Amino acid sequence: MTLISTNTPTAELQALDAAHHMHPFTHNAELGEKGVRIITRADGVWLNDSDGNRILDAMAGLWCVNIGYGRKELVDAAARQMQELPFYNTFFQTSHVPAIALAARLAELAPGDLNHVFFAGSGSEANDTNLRMVRAYWQEKGQPNKNVIISRWNAYHGSSVGSGSLGGMKGMHAQGGMPIPDIHHIEQPHWWAEGGDMSPEDFGLARAQELEKAILELGADRVAAFIAEPVQGAGGVIIPPATYWPEIQRICDEYNILLIADEVICGFGRTGNWFGSQTMGIKPHIMTIAKGLSSGYLPIGGSIVCDEVAEVIGNTEFNHGYTYSGHPVACAVALENLRLLDEEGIVTRVREDTGPYLKEKFEGLTSHPLVGEAKIVGMMGSIALTPDKASRAKFEADEGTVGFICRERCFANNLIMRHVGDRMIISPPLVISKPEIDMLIERAWKSLDECHAALK
Ligand code: PLP
Repeated sequence: MTLISTNTPTAELQALDAAHHMHPFTHNAELGEKGVRIITRADGVWLNDSDGNRILDAMAGLWCVNIGYGRKELVDAAARQMQELPFYNTFFQTSHVPAIALAARLAELAPGDLNHVFFAGSGSEANDTNLRMVRAYWQEKGQPNKNVIISRWNAYHGSSVGSGSLGGMKGMHAQGGMPIPDIHHIEQPHWWAEGGDMSPEDFGLARAQELEKAILELGADRVAAFIAEPVQGAGGVIIPPATYWPEIQRICDEYNILLIADEVICGFGRTGNWFGSQTMGIKPHIMTIAKGLSSGYLPIGGSIVCDEVAEVIGNTEFNHGYTYSGHPVACAVALENLRLLDEEGIVTRVREDTGPYLKEKFEGLTSHPLVGEAKIVGMMGSIALTPDKASRAKFEADEGTVGFICRERCFANNLIMRHVGDRMIISPPLVISKPEIDMLIERAWKSLDECHAALK
């Protein structure tokens, strides 16, 4: 057996990784040539790699480490629960204390009458649950043909066949025989890239009204639900114009369509409130949760469901569930994570203190020659790279080329910032301090300067 540890030389780890580890969303052959970056430890907002670099993680892992790295309280909660009850399922009329406690706490935190939780192991699984739940709901109400779910192009709702179909990532669809039947996509409210000569307000309204058009085309008696992220994350942190969500809400109400808010990124303080739906003024029937629920310390996701839908589903046996629905250790860690987010005032701090501080600095990046717009809500933001700000032009090179160069410069400057095409995005741990925000912005400037120089 090959013995490896964090003391194994980087090159050796990279060779083993290339030989045996298939990475998600990665061109694995290219990765083999270049060698992966190996993360060994982390604390707060900082990562250490196997070459001894200290890296500022402005992506909170994958948008998930809301509480920051290295919280012993979460380690202790996991250890306690592992000793007491490492696993039991929640099928067949059984339950356990961590699942009960977490479901009750989520019902307290969630707005309105979102009082019922169906647990899953991830955001993808939770969205698969939603797909099945809304169809079962309409079937139980005597409308089995009301089974079409409307989503948006460039949305991300997960990577299973169901959630990948709900998402609107064309590259994923092309490889997976997706979308499955009865999923319909409409255009996204991405003003910078697609708004043309329209004002953001008119554009937001027009894109929302695409939902109404789709419902009328398909027939309201066929449309079960509309699913969307309050703020698109993986699509490039696209904050919709202010006119968008009120119009979507009106349309869902008017045509009796269930509204699913995918809060996998937006939830648990990311936008300055517990849920993005609160920030955007949305009243969903179901919210998808994962990521920040446990701050990524253990995998857990779920659907928070309103009284009406839960009641109707409860009238029948819902033939659905996962072995790890309500895993006790993951629930115990999530509960402790929610306690810390609450008791340490982290969500409030994002809304009232560090969030506004970051916003001011982040928006200042628009004075860089490469940056067309900088948009941020709470602690999720994006900047558009452009050769011409006034016309919101795209680069001549293939989309994503410049974003990739910029991301590589960020890497070299020990800053993790991701690119989606030619948009650079951030989503740091919510515990980031003001001096760390200053460092983030400083490194972003430096990376943008280097990227700009590389284009000349
Ligand atoms: N929904 C949204 C909005 C996401 O951003 C993601 C993941 O990035 C998912 C769902 C899928 O979650 P998971 O990767 O935990 O399956």
